Order: sequence, then C-alpha cells, then structure tokens
Amino acid sequence: MDGGVGEAVLLTLFMLIKSIAGYPVPEEWPDIHRMPVAEIAERVCGAPCPIRAAYIAGEGVLIDEELDLVMDAFGQSVLLHELVHVAQDESGAFSQMPACRRYSEREYEAYWVQDEYLRRVTGSGLPGLFHGNRTWPPCFDKNESPPDE
Ligand SMILES: [Zn+2]
Repeated sequence: MDGGVGEAVLLTLFMLIKSIAGYPVPEEWPDIHRMPVAEIAERVCGAPCPIRAAYIAGEGVLIDEELDLVMDAFGQSVLLHELVHVAQDESGAFSQMPACRRYSEREYEAYWVQDEYLRRVTGSGLPGLFHGNRTWPPCFDKNESPPDE
C-alpha cells in the first residue's frame, strides 16, 4: 500500500536519501497511510499536537492526507523525512543510544536530509526555512540525562 504515491516516487526518494545520507535503499518499503492530521496526532501524541506525519515501525508512515506527495516539494519533503526514519531503522543507525538521545539524533538527521532535499529542489538555500514545522521531544537538550535509561 503506497498511499497513491507510486513506487517510482518512493524509489526516487530512497535513492536521494542514499546520495545525501549514505543509507542503502531498504529492502522492505513501508506502507503509506494517508489520514487527517487530527488522527495522526491522536495516534502519536494522544492529544492534539502539531504533527503532520510519523513513522511507526511495523505499521508504516502515517501522513497528512492534505499534503501533495507527488507534485509539491514541501509535501514530498515531509514524506522524505519519514523515509529517512525507515532507512535509519533498517540500518540500525543510532540503535545503541539511550532513548532520548537516539530520538534527537534521528530527528536531526531526518531534518538535515529534508533541508538538503528542499535546497536542491527549490534551488534556494534557505536553511531553517521550515523550522516552524519542527517538533522536538521534551528531552531534546542533549545535556539532560535521558528519562528512561
Ligand atoms: Zn522525524
């Protein structure tokens, strides 16, 4: 189930992740589930929260049904971000880190790849342009000890 995105788009995005971050194209591709943002927030945060997409291992990518994942660069970059998490999981990257640190590192890298993609596609070097869309865990401060390890 690719949520109407198409295998060619997924392959292109995984190839891009490979060229930017060095991850091999995963053998297993995630299912893509389009749904209202409220539903994603409920699933991930248990309450309203500013989130448009998430990757849940074993289930796949949940993503805002209103994003255009094929023609719109920003929409596609949100999908790309989640696919970075897929590649991270497949490769075992960061898996040895304490939970909070791992979360931060995974997000740093996914946003970096997303920025790099947008820079290439839009041709404008505006790093940080999409910072307003970013959500970080409460334990984002890397100097803080992880809560559960
Ligand atoms: Zn993320």
